[in-house]
Amino acid sequence: MMLEEQITLRCTGCGKEYPFGTYTCENRDGVLFAEYELGKVRSIADIMTPSEQGIWRFAKVLPNVENRVTFGEGGTPCLLSRSLGPQLGITLYIKDEGRNPTGSFKDRASALLISTEKMLGHKECTTGSSGNAAGSLALYSQLGRMHLYVFMYHPTREKFLHTASFEPTIFLVDTPVESDVHRLAEEASNQFGWALLTTMSSANPFNVEGYKTIAYEVVQDVGTPDVVAVPVGSGTLALGVWKGFKELHTMGLVDKPPRLLGIQPENVAPISLAYERNVPRVAPVTPKKTVATGTVVEDPGIAGDVVLQAIHESEGWMVTVSEREILEMWASLPAREGVFTEPTGALALAGTVVARTQGKIKEKDTVICINSASGFKDIGLFDKKVRRAERIFKIPPKLEAIEKLRGVW
Ligand SMILES: [Zn+2]
Repeated sequence: MMLEEQITLRCTGCGKEYPFGTYTCENRDGVLFAEYELGKVRSIADIMTPSEQGIWRFAKVLPNVENRVTFGEGGTPCLLSRSLGPQLGITLYIKDEGRNPTGSFKDRASALLISTEKMLGHKECTTGSSGNAAGSLALYSQLGRMHLYVFMYHPTREKFLHTASFEPTIFLVDTPVESDVHRLAEEASNQFGWALLTTMSSANPFNVEGYKTIAYEVVQDVGTPDVVAVPVGSGTLALGVWKGFKELHTMGLVDKPPRLLGIQPENVAPISLAYERNVPRVAPVTPKKTVATGTVVEDPGIAGDVVLQAIHESEGWMVTVSEREILEMWASLPAREGVFTEPTGALALAGTVVARTQGKIKEKDTVICINSASGFKDIGLFDKKVRRAERIFKIPPKLEAIEKLRGVW
């Protein structure tokens, strides 16, 4: 089936339809969503293809792309929390997106973005990123034999090196403002004809299509939760998860979609601010430094407005957490839960604690918390913690040296 026959791209604002290949509404009043013919089904097995892997097990509700560019993305585990969940009196699962091919949730979108761009015949593409999207698109563009031009905004050393290993063209942009890299990517796209693959819902509808598979996997693995906690930058991940649950609801597989809990760091919280002020439009903020680098989007634009609508529609909430709360959660997670997250993933768990303390999350609720990426993405930060650790000793290769430390080890 041709892509155009399978899906309709429609603006969430004005409802206008757009052809495959046009990804922003001229009225700039919403984002484009891919719509499918979704009938009622009896069980999730009816929409699954067991012979496929990862996100492609749900290929029946994904764009029907020719020659998929895929590397085993999706199919990540929902891990039952053994410490934090019982402490909070809830059933808490951590959906560990750090297990994707490049260590972040972005791979779900990259597989679809590169596959669809290839269908359009593009050979070169561009993006702006703080690191996770850059590393992901660098791999997938290479798999798809497209060249990537990436504008990076203050990446961690690990994210920079990881991206560089796939040999894209990298522009390290010297600016204090994250939105500059997206503006540059857009301008370069217009000037040089590179396909624009900015991983925001407002730039390309297939980002949301990739992330919605998280909802499908959650329902298949643990059923429908009461709350889904998501770290929020532009809100595209949250929007994708929400679209997935709404589709499952339409098909009769979910009675009531879960409430969305969006979490931002206090230091960059434009969507939370609009939520608290109860206004429909998200205004840009002046960002301060945060360890949750994956959420640094000080001006999400229309994507922010649309995710705010989704938060309200789900009867959910936005909360913020301090740098201290993020770091304390992040440092405790490996020993406590066995999960090694980047600080942005810890942000979501810290926000879950805040929402439970405030009584938003109720006792005995089932909560899915999404860890956005692996701790290996920001291991330099861990270096500082390990250096302060008390039980690490440098010794000569002699048993006496260990003996001498008796009582200390
Ligand atoms: Zn529109």
